[in-house]
Amino acid sequence: TSYVYSFGTPGTPDRDRLGGKGAELARMVQLGLPVPPGFTVTTAACRQVLAQGVRPAGLAGDIDRHLALVEDETGRRLGDPERPLLLAVRSGAAISMPGMMDTVLDVGLNDETVAGLARSTGNERFAWDCYRRLVQMFGETVLGVPAERFAGVLADVVAEHGAADAAALDAAGLRVVVERGNALCEEIAGRTLPQDPREQLDLAIDAVFASWNGDRARLYRRRFGIADDLGTAVNVQAMVFGNRGPRSGTGVAFTRDPATGDLGDYGEYLSDAQGEDVVSGARTAVPLARLRELDLASYRRLRSVMGTLERHYRDLCDIEFTVEDGRLWILQVRVGKRSPAAAFRIAADLVEEGMITEDEALVRVTGEQLTQLMFPQLDAGSAGSEIAAGLAASPGAAVGRVVLDSATAVALAARGEDVVLVRPETRADDLPGMVAACAVVTARGGRTSHAAVVARGMGLPAVCGVDGLEIDLATRQVALAGERLFAEGDVVSVDGGTGRVYRGRHRTVPSEVTRWLEGEVVASPLVAAVARLLAHADRTRRLGVRANAETAPDVARAVRFGAEGVGLCRTEHMFLGERRTYVERVLLGSDAERAEALRGLTRLQRESFAGVLDAAGGRPVTIRLLDAPLHEFLPDLTELSVCSALARERGRPDRALEERTAAVRRHHEQNPMTGLRGVRLSIVRPELVVAQAVAAFEAAADLRERGRPFDLELMVPMVSSAEEIAEVARSVGEAADQVAARRGRVPYRLGAMVETPRAAVTAARIVTHADFLSFGTNDLTQLTWGLSRDDAERSFLPRYLETGLLRTSPFASIDEDGVGRLLAVAVDGARGARDAVPIGVCGEHAGDPASIGFLARLGVDYLSCSPFRVPIARLEAGRAAL
Ligand code: PEP
Ligand code: MG
Repeated sequence: TSYVYSFGTPGTPDRDRLGGKGAELARMVQLGLPVPPGFTVTTAACRQVLAQGVRPAGLAGDIDRHLALVEDETGRRLGDPERPLLLAVRSGAAISMPGMMDTVLDVGLNDETVAGLARSTGNERFAWDCYRRLVQMFGETVLGVPAERFAGVLADVVAEHGAADAAALDAAGLRVVVERGNALCEEIAGRTLPQDPREQLDLAIDAVFASWNGDRARLYRRRFGIADDLGTAVNVQAMVFGNRGPRSGTGVAFTRDPATGDLGDYGEYLSDAQGEDVVSGARTAVPLARLRELDLASYRRLRSVMGTLERHYRDLCDIEFTVEDGRLWILQVRVGKRSPAAAFRIAADLVEEGMITEDEALVRVTGEQLTQLMFPQLDAGSAGSEIAAGLAASPGAAVGRVVLDSATAVALAARGEDVVLVRPETRADDLPGMVAACAVVTARGGRTSHAAVVARGMGLPAVCGVDGLEIDLATRQVALAGERLFAEGDVVSVDGGTGRVYRGRHRTVPSEVTRWLEGEVVASPLVAAVARLLAHADRTRRLGVRANAETAPDVARAVRFGAEGVGLCRTEHMFLGERRTYVERVLLGSDAERAEALRGLTRLQRESFAGVLDAAGGRPVTIRLLDAPLHEFLPDLTELSVCSALARERGRPDRALEERTAAVRRHHEQNPMTGLRGVRLSIVRPELVVAQAVAAFEAAADLRERGRPFDLELMVPMVSSAEEIAEVARSVGEAADQVAARRGRVPYRLGAMVETPRAAVTAARIVTHADFLSFGTNDLTQLTWGLSRDDAERSFLPRYLETGLLRTSPFASIDEDGVGRLLAVAVDGARGARDAVPIGVCGEHAGDPASIGFLARLGVDYLSCSPFRVPIARLEAGRAAL
């Protein structure tokens, strides 16, 4: 196999080897589209260079051969003083990382060929403009000269020549820029742009390889979970020029609106400019529809290419093109990034248009995107204090403090502040600030600018191209058209869906998708798309979806959101505040106090349980017996000790207080999370189990009397052995008998939570005493890793994530290799012993889009997650079944 492939190579292009850009270029050539000739140096070559520090033998020869093909096809030669071939050298990894790696354009120019280019194009100014771009790009990417220094050189020459801007400099002026740019390289890097074009090409390829390991590329990969060892391919392509005058230009076109999914002309066009000018956002382009007026023939050709590409990819395409002297060239195509709303719209529309099936549509949307669509939006009614408006570049609402640079954003966010990053435009080195921010606002750049593309990919609200926005980094003030707007640190509200920025903290309202889920009639194409895909997910999925809910209103909402029952009703919340003392008295009180407290506890719970069972409307409800660690029910020992010591010191010792303190001290535990909690409390105080079970059975009997349906399950937390669950089953049976004697038998099922490693390993035995099992993956993660679920994410996990020791927190997404193994062992054990035993998952992971596929493959029966995650779990469960 070769290290280099021509774009025209037949066969299915291999993304892993050619990178995304290289594979798509190859495909476009196969489709007969107008692509400038070139070749791709493979990711394998990159990996070898990065690993071994030297180019693989044979690479130089491969490049020679393919370069010769480009020379033949263009009729130009690299370094030819009369008809020089110029090359673009661009990165292209298998997974798109927009703007994160390097590019060098106009490779092949030197003091001699610049004259040849001027003669062969009849445009001396153009030739020198290319040359100064090469010096600058080569200087930045290969020699490491800071971009600002080149900008400084350019600004100086512009001023000295009395020109308005760089575009107004003549050939002589640009020649000075080249000279001074080279002098700058010499000063900073100790060398200038080499005059040998082949050396330029080799160094540019090496620089692109090296940019794979640049800071911003690494950060981007961490943020998006891309592996570090893939490497990038390099695409070397004959230059075409959008900067050859008014009949030339460059642009970006989307086949549908990447923000909303609407059909139409979306994209931007910049006349007399080169590709990177659009993406950098340095100049604001005109809407693509204007190309129709500027150059009708090119516009028509472009529309036809857009149609070809969309039919081929059967998806939204994002196309970079250049018009050179009235001739259209396609430089790049990729399946376009899109906002969450556009993802649903486009998927549903393509089904409607007969281009894809519903199954395919379901694969193209994610639970993560649905999460975004359920976020609240700014309340338009409270929109009195709009202070700025720009392009609605990435939808969503956010409120935060203004910060004016990436470092400040990172610092404030680390202290837990929500921050809104306000920049003239963003570049790749603003990425850390964007990751830290809850919204981005830029003064320049369109919907395809770096800020917009990256924000959409991250689901970050963004308003771009706020005309007239001036950011003064010295005084940390922001003005609009000369008038002071706000200062760094002020709170603003950003609506990326409308492109508006408001002063102060705005009220938020439920999104239209959430309103629809709540049962409101909402007529919008987005809601129709979400409804269609969710319905398909429901038809497809094999996993049941229940909710974790404790109160009747929460259960009712969960049912509206599509929950098929309650998989976890945590009862601890019923003992917050004053109610806590019921449990305290059961634990510490005299016999009389204890009996009284147990009666009170039953009364309270009976009412709550009836509400929850009723709200579920006959769907199964899993009531979990008390689980909270002891210290959450007992008064604070230190506080009690201090009070009784003070009383004694004042000469008025308080006997009752001292006895209470002593009692609490007897129950004090060093490690409450692994102490007297869950099933252990039930074993030590069986009367607590009886009281809770009686409450549940009485509640059910109450409903039965009222003619209301119910389906009751009781569940025992923190079980580690079959003996424990057998013992609790006896207490529950006792309660059932008690209630049966008075009110008739209440049907129920008793289940065990599997949330200790021992329970997982002995599930085969536990299941002989349980009607169902439910994985408590929160505790199972805590106990498997030996990590505190309450502290780890604040104390040291951030460090693990930063340094790449961990890709995600095991509390957020299931740790497949560790906790996942235990789950698999438990499922196998349980099913081996009792084939049809229902198994659920009720830890946080059940609502995590990234974990649901894995849980589905394990073969569990249902997920149970918080009400707001229910639609997400439905969608992901549908996707997991495909
Ligand atoms: C669990 O541990 O995963 C669980 C669902 O129980 P809790 O979060 O209440 O401990
Ligand atoms: Mg638990």
